Amino acid sequence: MSNFTIKKVLVEEGARKRAFTDEVLSKLPGIPVQHVKGITSATVSDELDMGKDTLHLLSYKGEFLKPCPGTREYICCGYQILNVATNCPINCSYCILQSYFNQPNLRVFANLDEKIDQVLKEIDSKPECIFRVGTGEFTDSLAIDSITCWSDLLIPRFSERKNAVLELKTKTTQIDRLVAGKYRDRIIVSWSLNSPYISAHEEHKAASLKKRLEAARQCQSEGFVLGFHFDPLIPHPHWKDEYLRTIELMDKYIDPKGIIWISLGSLRFMPGLKPIIRRRHPGSCVLDGEFITGLDGKMRYFKPIRIALYRFMRENLEKWHQNLGLYLCMESDDVWQKSLGWSPKNTIGLSSYLDRRVVEIFG
Ligand code: SF4
Repeated sequence: MSNFTIKKVLVEEGARKRAFTDEVLSKLPGIPVQHVKGITSATVSDELDMGKDTLHLLSYKGEFLKPCPGTREYICCGYQILNVATNCPINCSYCILQSYFNQPNLRVFANLDEKIDQVLKEIDSKPECIFRVGTGEFTDSLAIDSITCWSDLLIPRFSERKNAVLELKTKTTQIDRLVAGKYRDRIIVSWSLNSPYISAHEEHKAASLKKRLEAARQCQSEGFVLGFHFDPLIPHPHWKDEYLRTIELMDKYIDPKGIIWISLGSLRFMPGLKPIIRRRHPGSCVLDGEFITGLDGKMRYFKPIRIALYRFMRENLEKWHQNLGLYLCMESDDVWQKSLGWSPKNTIGLSSYLDRRVVEIFG
């Protein structure tokens, strides 16, 4: 069961008469459908809800596979985003997508089935590279999988490739289609985790932490490799006790030997997000800390605070298990050294480290 519902479907011209669109509509009987030409005042809903209950089907004209938008100033992981949709129904208060995209609604690309072969051709043309691909950067990978069936389209195709892995990142328990399928190889199912307090108060339509970890346990027992992401870590009252509780829950549910990687990142955002959080989430605590402007123009916590967060997480995660593939998201060499005790030095170094994890786990 998901925590959110679709109340309206918009179908742009380019998405009409497509098998994908027909499939989606068949899964939403009784939901009003409106045919539209593009973004008009009729397609834009209330600014506050950002159209998170409106499914907007369109044909995407851009590149489906693109590098994660890292910045030169920090060490990036060399990830590739498979751009299946933009915006997300989970509605986390801290979500950077609130200011990243200037168009509302759950925008789902109805021509993915037509373009996926092109993506795979690109992957196949570079057998010497490992493509770490994920669908969970611009939306939640599984939140609407029961409607879009992305996993049916993508999992078999990625599972049979030796130079790629597909990571499905979620805060939900929507794993039915995954576990019902027969494919496991080269697929990583990942959960974004936070402290119990942040999960309950700031991740509005996400599954509870316990439910997320129960779903992760089920995936693990069904043979899937797992990943976890603590991003954004947020200092809040009793944060150490709070994050320890999450690690204790992980210990209760998960065998750490089946984890490919765990990323750590701290809250960072372009200044334009601040007024949006204040307006959309007036009770939120995520802006309570002190922020500085980083080299990439984003607001971040002071360096000593970031180091304290990462060091604490590293020490306690490594008490649980030594070999978890820990890495930092968008941090500098000295923050790596001071918090994890080593550094990949640059984006090439971090990419090689994560590629080695892929080879260790999948062969
Ligand atoms: S789950 Fe991720 S993409 Fe969705 S609202 Fe939360 S932070 Fe944004």
